[in-house]
Amino acid sequence: RTNDAGWAFDNSYVRLPDIFYKRMNPAPVKSPKLAVLNEALAEGLALNPQALRSADGVAAFAGNRVPDGAAPLAQAYAGHQFGHFNMLGDGRALLLGEQITPQGQRFDIQLKGSGRTPYSRGGDGRAALGPMLREYIISEAMHGLGIPTTRSLAVVTTGETILRETELPGAVLARIAASHIRVGTFQYAANWGSVDQLRALADHAVERHYPETAGESSNRYLDFLKGVIARQASLIAKWQLVGFIHGVMNTDNMAISGETIDYGPCAFMDLYDPATVFSSIDIHGRYAYGNQPSIAVWNLARFAEALLPLLDENEEHAVELAEDALSAFAVQYHRHWLSGMRAKLGIVNEEPEDEKLVADLLRMMKEHGADYTNTFLAFTYGKPEDTPLFGHEPYEQWLERLKARLSRQEQSAAESEQLMRRSNPAVIPRNHRVEEALEAAVSRGDYGPMERLLAVLSQPFAHSAEQAEYAELPACTNVPYRTFC
Ligand code: AMP
Ligand code: MG
Ligand code: MG
Repeated sequence: RTNDAGWAFDNSYVRLPDIFYKRMNPAPVKSPKLAVLNEALAEGLALNPQALRSADGVAAFAGNRVPDGAAPLAQAYAGHQFGHFNMLGDGRALLLGEQITPQGQRFDIQLKGSGRTPYSRGGDGRAALGPMLREYIISEAMHGLGIPTTRSLAVVTTGETILRETELPGAVLARIAASHIRVGTFQYAANWGSVDQLRALADHAVERHYPETAGESSNRYLDFLKGVIARQASLIAKWQLVGFIHGVMNTDNMAISGETIDYGPCAFMDLYDPATVFSSIDIHGRYAYGNQPSIAVWNLARFAEALLPLLDENEEHAVELAEDALSAFAVQYHRHWLSGMRAKLGIVNEEPEDEKLVADLLRMMKEHGADYTNTFLAFTYGKPEDTPLFGHEPYEQWLERLKARLSRQEQSAAESEQLMRRSNPAVIPRNHRVEEALEAAVSRGDYGPMERLLAVLSQPFAHSAEQAEYAELPACTNVPYRTFC
């Protein structure tokens, strides 16, 4: 069933009850051209980059040709958007199918910007080139940082313009994911499906993402809930440790697989401040950096609610089981976060005072407007004077505490430094660098800056000489950066 490009689709989603999707083909575009292809990822999927670059290959990414074996469909889902429950669904995306690698791994191949669907509501079903390239850059940066995420396989331009505030060039993104099943998919099933349909979705998700709980467990759905909670606790801790702000943590944007999904108004924090928000639509700061762990619990509570009928026949008992499972999030998140913070400071063993050491540093960073990433780099490179904290008495005292702390572990200074190099990225996708790369690509068709940015972001822990340039802050930081989805 494999063709020239190497597409080898299975379509397990089509075997779910048909309330979960609508079969349909992408809407063709005028004149598709390849903007960017992720060759390394293509090869990892056993796809042939040369064939993907051919007219046929590009036509498939544009939605002008459906590759053999694909069974395109729009997925149904609901979601709480900024706290308000809505019926949503793929309004501008289609799942082509699941690529099966020779090793038997399964990856969703989704086109984003592929035209209207029955779930489009007022939308045009299309996407603009800038935001699709932005998703490409940030999702690949997250992958480079070792953070579970959907990935970007290709972007094609459509030769059509779309209307936003102004006319913009249109594009289609081909993205891959462990799956696109969301908390919102379960909310949809719980609200509009039968218990049998909800169970079919849960069984599908368990077999696909939590096969370890698919056996003869005492309560496989409770184990499933606990598994999703554990992966989200780990994921959100990773976000916090690198200063990633998702920007739109609606329940439809939280993947059951534990991958980061939906790169709309996301951005990385520069100056440390838990109140940091970039999204122009998040006027109340609901999805601010410091709120992300508590929002994750709120979303997981919606997930648990959707699962209640499967947890126990007795509703009261089901609620008890769910609450008990949810209470684990805070404990697990905190454990991941604190061990990550220790590593960022070069600390290997554990002492009860470590949390206070970290909290005191963060408080000073906020007070003095220190850059989050670069402050940890200063420690990594043994240059604690390279931060605006330097020269302040409390910081000098804090450095003495850190020195004393590091002396209370067996590991050498060199081992500590290695740990910091593995834990503190030399480069993150800084907003001004991302904007610069997008500007060159979208306005001038020059993909050079984007390719160079992608190259450094793919190895953030290399600490190469070239990366120093990318650690620089923008000349002007007093203009608040805003992202638009
Ligand atoms: P998001 O904010 O990206 O999570 O999207 C929320 C919902 O809006 C999803 O159901 C999307 O499919 C839908 N949507 C976003 N943009 C468009 C568009 N241009 N046309 C149709 N639906 C859209
Ligand atoms: Mg979304
Ligand atoms: Mg989006």
